[in-house]
Amino acid sequence: MKANELTSFDHTHLWHPYTSMTNPSPCYAVEAAEGVRVRLADGRELIDGMSSWWAAIHGYRHPRLMAALHAQADRLAHFMFGGATHEPAVGLARRLLALLPPSLNRIFLADSGSVSVEVALKMALQAARSRPDGAARTRFLTVRGGYHGDTFLAMSVCDPVTGMHSLFQGTLPRQLFADRPSCRFDGAWDPADTTSFERLIEQHRAELAGVILEPIAQGAGGMWFYHPEYLRRVRDLCTCHRIPLILDEIATGFGRTGKLFALEHAGVVPDILCVGKALTGGTMTLAATVCTDSLAQAISAGGQPFMHGPTFMGNPLACAVACASLDLLNETPWAANVARIGAQLRAELEPCRRHPAAADVRVLGAIGVVETRAPVDAAALQRHFVERGVWIRPFGKLIYLMPPYIIESADLTRLTDAVRSSLSQSMR
Ligand SMILES: *Cc1c(COP(=O)(O)O)cnc(C)c1O
Repeated sequence: MKANELTSFDHTHLWHPYTSMTNPSPCYAVEAAEGVRVRLADGRELIDGMSSWWAAIHGYRHPRLMAALHAQADRLAHFMFGGATHEPAVGLARRLLALLPPSLNRIFLADSGSVSVEVALKMALQAARSRPDGAARTRFLTVRGGYHGDTFLAMSVCDPVTGMHSLFQGTLPRQLFADRPSCRFDGAWDPADTTSFERLIEQHRAELAGVILEPIAQGAGGMWFYHPEYLRRVRDLCTCHRIPLILDEIATGFGRTGKLFALEHAGVVPDILCVGKALTGGTMTLAATVCTDSLAQAISAGGQPFMHGPTFMGNPLACAVACASLDLLNETPWAANVARIGAQLRAELEPCRRHPAAADVRVLGAIGVVETRAPVDAAALQRHFVERGVWIRPFGKLIYLMPPYIIESADLTRLTDAVRSSLSQSMR
């Protein structure tokens, strides 16, 4: 099929993330991708600035990842995880344990980020049941500006304004939202920043099953980077009130913010951790929810099992490629690459600050964000980017870059040039 045949069939029959079937958004047919290059079906070649939403950290079609996939496909593509285990799952668990704080040692393999968040929230709810005062503990506390996924319980802890609360009003559990942390990651700390969080945790401590946050970097809820002291304060308050802290590292995990996990910026350890996205180096869907031994004990205190079990749990193909991706991460100088990308993003995006369409510029690790004053026309901007040979997908007031860690300097400059030129475009 030709590129235009693909897109016209697609328009009639396929949903895309957050789109309408009556007013479909334009889309581009992609044929292949290698390294940081994406080839469209019409032959055009683009430089990837998105890592397919935080995931393809080693670039596309990495030979090590492809070899792991092929080798696993020749042995065992899938087998039910009920009553069975296999080398890829055990190998992945061993590798994860080696990277995580030692107290996080009980791993649930989930099939997507949203599911791993559901699992984390369910773990906290089930653990609450083992407390004498557990029956009342059914709610979660979080902060505004968060994003935790699209399934129902995950949606309930997403930002109530930018999330989907208004659409699903009446069906979502009502959670508690503290003000968005306002002190910048690299700015001064103001102890008043946690006032709203402190008030809510104290008022509602008897109803809380848990607290959930994205550590340091809020992703799809606004690409905002907050002060590590905020997270330390949250950890202390959760400990003090004996409420489990869930950290959602699905976007931030595996080096993106300059540390292997963003929680290291604050030196805190949660009771439950979610990882996903870059876990398989962007090749397959896989996520994990990891909890402490004491939380696992609490979940099963009455002898009851943990009640979750997806059909494709622990999929061997996904686990095998995740093992290869973590090995690759260990063997490559990812931290130096992320630091190099960050320095270049800072130097080349900073001039955007002077543009009248720009409200803010922020960079953390290998994430560069230009926030605009008005929402951008995402479809028009994407056309502009494709014409300039780059793959960048803005949303709302956010034009952002999160390239694969292997991107070279000249290619990164093409991405930042395209972002700068898009600002004038966005004002038309
Ligand atoms: C993407 C994301 C999710 C959801 O993951 P899916 O794999 O899309 O279900 C949850 N939390 C955060 C922080 C994310 O960035």
